[in-house]
Amino acid sequence: MKAFRTLDQADVKGKRVLVRVDLNVPMENGRITDATRIERILPTLRELSDKGGKLVILAHFGRPKGRDLKDTLRPVAEALGQHLKKPVAFADETIGPVAEAAVAALKDGDILVLENTRFHAGEEKNDPAFVKELAKLGDLYVNDAFSTAHRAHASTEGLAHLLPAFAGRTMEAELDALTKGLEAPTRPLVAIVGGAKVSSKIDLLENLVKKVDALVIGGGMANTFLHAMGMGIGKSLAEKDLAPTALRILAQARESNCAIILPVDGICAYEFKAGAANHAYGMDAIPDDQMILDVGPQSVERINAAINDAATLVWNGPLGAFEIAPFDQGTVAAARHAAARTKAGKLVSVAGGGDTVSALNHAGVADEFTYVSTAGGAFLEWLEGKPLPGVDALKA
Ligand code: AMP
Repeated sequence: MKAFRTLDQADVKGKRVLVRVDLNVPMENGRITDATRIERILPTLRELSDKGGKLVILAHFGRPKGRDLKDTLRPVAEALGQHLKKPVAFADETIGPVAEAAVAALKDGDILVLENTRFHAGEEKNDPAFVKELAKLGDLYVNDAFSTAHRAHASTEGLAHLLPAFAGRTMEAELDALTKGLEAPTRPLVAIVGGAKVSSKIDLLENLVKKVDALVIGGGMANTFLHAMGMGIGKSLAEKDLAPTALRILAQARESNCAIILPVDGICAYEFKAGAANHAYGMDAIPDDQMILDVGPQSVERINAAINDAATLVWNGPLGAFEIAPFDQGTVAAARHAAARTKAGKLVSVAGGGDTVSALNHAGVADEFTYVSTAGGAFLEWLEGKPLPGVDALKA
């Protein structure tokens, strides 16, 4: 039994189903530039429609302050219809008589998108009066938007308390992957954390050292740790004022028996520029006038050995400045190694966070990981061990 209710337990035939999804797709000049989020919700919508539910879709778009038609969901609803290959109706209002009439007109299997939930201040405030107005429009509530589950908003959390609430298939897949990744993992459990700064990931590092057997630290943030440990890091990006924080995290790791794996060598250059002349140096010999832009070959070997030891891997953040070649090589090599171990059935690999998804795509292996989460903020808050209100509200 899962800890949350799924569509297997929902009887939707003839019922009005309020479905919260993520339609916050990137748009340029009225055109959707990446439809991944739409693709991800299709299985849930198809299943609910095929089972005869009357689908009333709720979503936010952008960050409008009140009603602002530049953030209307109308074009996104049209695109959704094209992806589903069936008509999708649109109501100009989220609540009130216009929305109620559009819902009343639905037949079994029909699909309606309501206007941007964030046109109402009550959405982000989780205002009970707004939740009540939304709840009038449905008999059941399905949440398929993991990416907004870290927010206790009316359409992501409030509704689950007024209507019978279920996880959609995308939410279910995400929660299953996260359970395998950190909550009930097969051990040894190894995490790789990279990226630019320690400051944005203090809570995450503190949570992970308590849970994982080994933590690989790479990217710019490794420099702060190396500096704190008294190593020379030349002109590398580092947050030197956070040296005490880095030392505290290392002490916490020792207490929790978590092995810390830091780079033993780095690819260094004089400038942060694609194709800049570069050289690998041992960590005890980083030149004063250069910066570390990637982990070196010995570090990659060490990281790959840690991946070999792992039964489960959780990954967030690139190991180097992967956007500019050749400083992508450490990240690419480790990502490919993790993908190969996953393919061989030796590893459960769960990765997520904005730059991580681009880095894995860049390495050409995003499809080969067990699960790659595209939910930026919610994935990070989950890595930080914080409660996710949208998920907690679905628990049986
Ligand atoms: P984050 O958003 O915290 O995951 O950080 C990702 C960013 O960190 C990417 O833009 C990388 O280019 C950058 N980064 C990773 N390693 C380094 C490094 N050694 N020096 C400078 N930037 C880096």
